Amino acid sequence: MNLARLVPVLALLSTLPCSGQNPEVPNAPTTPVTASEIAPPKDLLARIRAEGMERSQVMGTLSYLTDVVGPRLTGSPGLRRASEWSRDQLTRWGLENAQLEPWGPFGRGWSLRRFSAQVIAPQSIPLIAFPKAWSPSLGTKPLQAEIVHVDIKKSEDFEKFRGKLKGKIVLDGPVREIKVKFESPAVRHTDATLLALANSDGSSATTRVSTTTPNPLATPEQRAALALLPRRSQFYSEEGVAVLLQPSRIGDSGTLFTSAATVYPPRSKTATSKMTKTAEPNAKTKAGAPIRSISPWKTDAPPIVPQVIVAAEHYNRLVRMTEQGEKLRAAIELQIDYHAQDLMAANVVAEIRGSDLANEVVMLGAHLDSWQSGTGATDNAAGSAIVMEAVRILKAIELEPRRTIRVALWTGEEQGLLGSKAYVAEHFGVAKNAPATAGAAVPRNETDTFAPPPLGPLPEIEKKPAHEHLSVYFNLDNGGGKIRGIYLQRNDAVAQLFRQWLKPFKDLGAETVSLRSTGGTDHLSFDAVGLPGFQFIQDDIEYTTRTHHANMDVYDRVIPDDLKQAAVIMATFVYQAAMRDEKIPRKPIAIPTPTAATAPVSAATQ
Ligand SMILES: [Zn+2]
Repeated sequence: MNLARLVPVLALLSTLPCSGQNPEVPNAPTTPVTASEIAPPKDLLARIRAEGMERSQVMGTLSYLTDVVGPRLTGSPGLRRASEWSRDQLTRWGLENAQLEPWGPFGRGWSLRRFSAQVIAPQSIPLIAFPKAWSPSLGTKPLQAEIVHVDIKKSEDFEKFRGKLKGKIVLDGPVREIKVKFESPAVRHTDATLLALANSDGSSATTRVSTTTPNPLATPEQRAALALLPRRSQFYSEEGVAVLLQPSRIGDSGTLFTSAATVYPPRSKTATSKMTKTAEPNAKTKAGAPIRSISPWKTDAPPIVPQVIVAAEHYNRLVRMTEQGEKLRAAIELQIDYHAQDLMAANVVAEIRGSDLANEVVMLGAHLDSWQSGTGATDNAAGSAIVMEAVRILKAIELEPRRTIRVALWTGEEQGLLGSKAYVAEHFGVAKNAPATAGAAVPRNETDTFAPPPLGPLPEIEKKPAHEHLSVYFNLDNGGGKIRGIYLQRNDAVAQLFRQWLKPFKDLGAETVSLRSTGGTDHLSFDAVGLPGFQFIQDDIEYTTRTHHANMDVYDRVIPDDLKQAAVIMATFVYQAAMRDEKIPRKPIAIPTPTAATAPVSAATQ
């Protein structure tokens, strides 16, 4: 996924006044809960549980997507293979209309052919490192070159390095201080955090804050350095730097976090005005001027110096060695392929046909694409395997839903929810004059965020006929930890309903209903056009500390029982939504003037 981590830039911005701050809460009438919803056939729940817990195939699905296919970067052959395999697996399980539905154009794909990095003099130091996606090749042979440490903090620093970097391997930036951790890197929600979610009035902008993420904008010096990034990037290109080594921004103990290469528009005057049109807002400097960057998957992105992320401990050692006067040389092999023959991408969709309400649709989904350095196990093969397992369970016990159940595996999520946004636009509608932050498509890199939509009236929506026929969309993309409840996305009309649906899962730890909106993933695409889209509350486990966009996002960091539990709950929610008489209530299009916040409730009553 992309969870709505309050990344540092947002932390800074949150201190600034922003529009749409009214703590308005949707005030739709609560839908009555019918007897059949309160008590679905016990036998039915037992059958779903038995199929999901005793005959689960979820870990087999996860292993195929992660171990066998591996990383699934949007546009890459890996994602194409995962998509085709998932489509065929859903067909084997009895789903209908399983297909790859194109969207785009997205841009060029990228895959790794060869990579290794080690210091070769004065001693051999194999490095834990990984190239940023869309970094170019270094040629067919390993590059051998001197390592130079460059730490540009202010404008005057450029001159110190001018003329000295041609063909060099550059350590780009200062050491990153690493503190020993005395707490476990893995966490589950506690009673206190669940209670806070249950009592939320829905006005909080985000759901989670990483306590492990250093804030690169904490000091004026750091903000000044950030503002120099575009100039620094151009300087490296003009000076002929061979490759950039950069410390992993977060993570330690051999875990590194990496996503897409950072590309800035050329700084010449004419070029800048030309490129700005396609550039997207990415971060803000102290002065509030946006730093623009270009999506590296665009076929017209300007050439860049290859960017390699190095595990922080290794990076720090190299910097300290150069400071001690050591002359370091490294050998780096980097060969990649760009894939530009077909610039389109595709989502995977498949259906269980409904019966008397077959023209109405209940959707569930997760994104199938991943970043490149791990195998995208928690982000988000886990979610994909869970939603596939949920529909497998429903087919296996031969349930006949009233509404059509449609499962979707999105692509391009990591680049800005692109696949789900395209799908929603194609099938359901488009929000006109939507606020930029509502599921905004901005490049994923160090300084972005995917915030939930701001509070305030919903935008005007240009609807397609199918807009009326979608009941609900359920998403899973918060890391593979078990489900602890659900975010209502400020739609309090569904609170009572979802509480009832969660009741049978109290013993599995899922009972919290939070009015809060959460961001960062594909339910936002539905929410943005006034459709009920929900993301479940999940345990973090090691998502923020070890796996999310990291080289250690691998099969072994996933807990099988958590996936089984999530699949059973997903299957039950989808089934309930497919069977009830009414569609899931929607948020009112025009949210009324402020009301009293929803009365707090204790966790015990959830
Ligand atoms: Zn992600």
